[in-house]
Parts: sequence; C-alpha cells; structure tokens
Amino acid sequence: MPPRAGGTATTHDSGDVQIGARSEASPDGLVRVVCLLCGRAAAADDLFWGCGACGVSAPLTVADPPPQLTGLMVGDAVREARCTFSRGFAGIDIRAPMSTPMTAAPTFGAGVFLKHEAFSLTGSHKDRFHAVAARVALALGARGIVASSTGNHGVSAAAHAAAAGLPAVVFCHPEAPAGLLRAIGAFGGEAAQLDSVAQREELIALVREGWFPATSMDPALSGAANPFAVEGYKAIACETVEQLGRLPEAVFIPTAGGDTLYGVMKGFAELAALCGAPMPTVFAVQPEGASSLSQSLTAGTQVAVAEPHSIALSIADPRSGRHAMIAIARWGGGVLDVAEAAIETAMIDLARIGVYIDPASAAALAGYRLAVARGDIAADALSVLLLTSSGFKWPDAMAAVFPSGAVRDAAELRRRLALRSGA
Ligand SMILES: [Zn+2]
Repeated sequence: MPPRAGGTATTHDSGDVQIGARSEASPDGLVRVVCLLCGRAAAADDLFWGCGACGVSAPLTVADPPPQLTGLMVGDAVREARCTFSRGFAGIDIRAPMSTPMTAAPTFGAGVFLKHEAFSLTGSHKDRFHAVAARVALALGARGIVASSTGNHGVSAAAHAAAAGLPAVVFCHPEAPAGLLRAIGAFGGEAAQLDSVAQREELIALVREGWFPATSMDPALSGAANPFAVEGYKAIACETVEQLGRLPEAVFIPTAGGDTLYGVMKGFAELAALCGAPMPTVFAVQPEGASSLSQSLTAGTQVAVAEPHSIALSIADPRSGRHAMIAIARWGGGVLDVAEAAIETAMIDLARIGVYIDPASAAALAGYRLAVARGDIAADALSVLLLTSSGFKWPDAMAAVFPSGAVRDAAELRRRLALRSGA
C-alpha cells in the first residue's frame, strides 16, 4: 500500500483519521473519511487512492457529523452549518479566506442571481478548494502540493501553496493560457506540461513521496484523489443562503470533474436539513462536446468522452467523477448539456450587463435558459448562477467571441456614435 503524505494523521481504533488538535466542538475531534459507495472508514495511511474495499478505488469523502437540529431559521442554520464545518476540520475554518458577492440579474429572469466567484484571491472559485487543501496539507505534514489543471485550478493551487509556505507542482493542460502558466511560476510553483501518461505517472509518484494531491475526489481522474478540499465548496452554499435570506430553488454549476458540484450540493443538503426546507435543484452544466456526466448517468457507469471540445476549456474534460454521479442521484439534481452557440450568446449577454466572465461561467446562464425552455424550472424560480472565473484570465477564449476593435480616428468615432443614437 502506498504511504500517505507524511505527517501527524493517526489511525483511531475505529480506523478514523485524526487531523490536528482535538476540537472542543467535536465529541471526539476526529475527521471521518469514508467511502462514498460502501461507507467504510478509510485508514490514515490510505487517504489518497480511493476505497480499496470496493475494488474500484471508489471516491472517499469527509463524513460530517449529522446535524442534530432541524427547523432552524435561516440565520441560525447558517451559523450552525459553519460551526459544523469547523468542527469537522478540528479548527480549519473552510470559510476562510473570503466570501464573494451576489447580484440580482433580472435581465435574465425575475429570480436570477449571479454568484461572482471571480472576486477571490486568484479570480476563480478554485480558491475555495485550495484554501482548504493547503491547510490540510500543512496539518498532514506534506512535502508539497501537486495538482493537475486546465488553468484556474493550478493557479489557485500555486497561490495557496505559497501562502502556506509549501512548494507546488502543477501539471497543466496543453492549451492552458500562457498568462496562467506565468502566474503559477510567479507564485513559486513549477508548471509542467507533460503528455498525459507521463503526467499521471509523475503525479502518482510525487504523492507516494509525500506530496499532497490537490486533485479531484475521484482517483480515476488523475491517479490520486483528495477527499478533503471539496469541503471548501460548502461555503458557497452557506454564503448563498445568507445573501438570499433563504435557500434558492435552483442552482446552476459549470461542471467538469464534479468537485464543485459535489461540495456545493453537500453544503445545500446540510443547510436544507438544518432549516427543514426543500433541497434546491442543483444542475450540473456541461458543453454538448464534453457531456461526460449525462452520458455516464445514462449508461449507469463512468463514461469518457473520446475527444472533448468546447470554447469553455475549464469544463471540457473527458470525464466526470463518480462523486458527481452520486451527488446527482443522492440529492436530486439534474444535468444540462448546452450548445456552443448558447455559451457564446450567454457570454455576450452577460458582458452587456457589465459582467465579463469566462466561457465556462457563461455556461451557467446557458444552462438556466435551457432548464426554463425545457420546463425543468419556472421562469421566475429563485435561481443562482455560479460564475466561476473572470474573462480577464482567458484572453484567447474571449477573443474568439469579442474581437478587439479600438477606433483610431475621431471621425470614425463620431460615425459610430451617430449609428448608436439612430441619427
Ligand atoms: Zn468502498
């Protein structure tokens, strides 16, 4: 059995894993990491390879203590849920280091709100994940942090590793924007673009040498898995409920591997239980050219898309994780496959109200529109669109939709203004 990233985790008699100091809010101070499929508790030296007992290296997850309370008012539920997060991590507060704004967007629907994850340390929702990952890596005494990424994930990994004083290795997609590779280097990380076989082998080797995998929950995706960091996404659910003053009816999440989907759904499920309120319908949104999740759910097994393609590179992965399939089944979500033209239209429509977001984020609006058109939700449903990253980080993708065209003489400027005013 491969060794864990070295450190202070210990195995309890029950096989549970203990991290860091005992929490006063938890009866036993233990973080329980369990298999999503069979529920078996993982041993401390077997956290990153999935559940061996299932024979398929099934994804592992943090098992929070079930909420003891229900029927709470929203504000009390948010406070209790946040307490549970801290309790689960024995002092690691998953809310830190940020919260992001929410704005109404009635242009798109009476109940539409935009959750702006671009307002974060490195400009994407990945900071939720890596803020937790880096602190757990420290708690486990890891030698460094290793991740694989199309861009946003790797930049965030390198930034939070730097903040934690740990080295970072980021295996990047061949099409990752140069600016994002530069940022990884700026944070002191090593960006590497290897072929897919060499990348997988090297990532596994580093984890066996004590590096912490800031990777997806499903070990099938990158070779080594991380059961902890998706807990950071629960904070998005918490903030959303706090900002709306209630649980939304529908949530739209751009989805690749499915970590964000799983973490946000887990957070909403916890809050719904605390409030005694209905679980929102959470929709995973994928491009039609990378619809691995809907294909997997239809087939009843994990399906890889042979040649995934989309302008939305961040959600154009060949595979979604089994945890995403389980999340949809367990918590009653849906999957929406959106066309490239719908993504591009959404990019333009969002820009027209002053929101310059990347193509993957725009897929959330395309998904909302598709859900309304299909009758999955009412047009006035209280809906949250998760905008995961800024367009400023993806200049090439944005250039495909928004041609640059500065006016270079005053007469032409006046002609254009006259056209706008209809003169
Ligand atoms: Zn299992």
